[in-house]
Amino acid sequence: MNTAMPFLRKIFIKTYGCQMNAHDSERLAAMLRTFGHEIVDCEDDADVYILNTCSVRERAEIKAVGKSRYLSRKKLRKNNALLGIVGCMAENLAENLFKLNPGIDFIIGPRRISELPAILAGENVGRVALLGEAHSEDAGESARDFSSAKICASVSIMQGCNMRCSYCIVPKTRGPESYRPMDSIIAECETLVQNGTKEITLLGQIVNNYGQGVLEYGSGKSPFVQLLERIDDIAGLERIRYMSPHPKGFREDLIEAHSSLSKLCPSVHLPIQSGSDRVLRAMRRPYTRARILSIVESLRAAVPNIALTTDVIVGYPGEREEDFSMTVDLLNAVKFNMAFVFKYSPRAGTLSASLPDDVGADEKDRRNKILLDMVQKCSIGHNETMIGHGVEVLVEGHAKRGENKLCGRTRGGDKVIFDGQDRLIGQLVNVKIMDSAITILRGKLIEI
Ligand code: SF4
Repeated sequence: MNTAMPFLRKIFIKTYGCQMNAHDSERLAAMLRTFGHEIVDCEDDADVYILNTCSVRERAEIKAVGKSRYLSRKKLRKNNALLGIVGCMAENLAENLFKLNPGIDFIIGPRRISELPAILAGENVGRVALLGEAHSEDAGESARDFSSAKICASVSIMQGCNMRCSYCIVPKTRGPESYRPMDSIIAECETLVQNGTKEITLLGQIVNNYGQGVLEYGSGKSPFVQLLERIDDIAGLERIRYMSPHPKGFREDLIEAHSSLSKLCPSVHLPIQSGSDRVLRAMRRPYTRARILSIVESLRAAVPNIALTTDVIVGYPGEREEDFSMTVDLLNAVKFNMAFVFKYSPRAGTLSASLPDDVGADEKDRRNKILLDMVQKCSIGHNETMIGHGVEVLVEGHAKRGENKLCGRTRGGDKVIFDGQDRLIGQLVNVKIMDSAITILRGKLIEI
């Protein structure tokens, strides 16, 4: 009989990048806890440092490599300490990471994260690289720690992406799409709700592509809409969101779901990337500006006050002034509540990396600033229209600043701060909006 004690660790995890990465880190922490390891908030208390990295932009990679060098110096002062890089940058830069920082002990791509406990089980880890390969049966999902279920929780419904947008590294780092079985997703949502979750955000690279080619359409409804309908039926759940859909698969059944499903929040993040059909073709984005306008029109007809947000890239190779003007024009026409604007930068391993990066840095800055100013005006304008109105807020917790201040979100996703007692955390309350800033609304609790 093997009586050796398992080698238990104190683990610090730092996350870079998107909501999907934040969700992966949460799952990773839960999985490591089930193996007896402790997750610590402070790197000084740790003997294993894990950076869960992002490769979407070069800056995120530079920051993560810098942090890894800092941690490898810290590691030298401890016995048996380990430094690991997991996530998209691990997959993208692969063994080159060992050259960039010889202090790294292991690198694990996003599809192999569930193998980390096996690595930590040994006292002498050596240098390990676990990259590529397919997702497991449940699309890479590991057991979740429901005891720490949050009021607002994310549930991953798929992994990977089958598209090949010219600028994007995700298909390389996360692999092709694989979908979780619907029953497994429903079971996870039900257990979250039993443990106190009130709002669930479904996550996927193209969330509305869920089940395509694998699960059946029923009564003309896509597998994603069928999934939304089943989640909408879960008693005790108050709100459903999803992130991010692709304009390509945004069909009538999903638009109809926004008016028929009472828990589906009136907010959609619709990444347009550009308002120029010529640039969209170059980016290999399979839709047109006319299609975006038609989706927006249908969504607003179904749900008049729906909150719309988007992503835009400026300075893509070959983006001329007239292309940029079309993006400005599209943003003016739609008036998104918020837009995330990114300056194009080539990423090694993507299709566009071989194109000349021919929009100069100053010009990218100028286009970026024009769009940010527009977005800010739209956001301020939207927030001002909320003043004087009563809104339903799901109270998520304490506000970062201010004694007795609570914060939560409206169904449209606006952040609201107001005075209230702790007992309201996790409740739906009505708040009258009194004041607004660029990104927040301030309100007063409406006592019933
Ligand atoms: S749809 Fe395009 S941008 Fe989105 S993850 Fe897939 S390849 Fe990347």
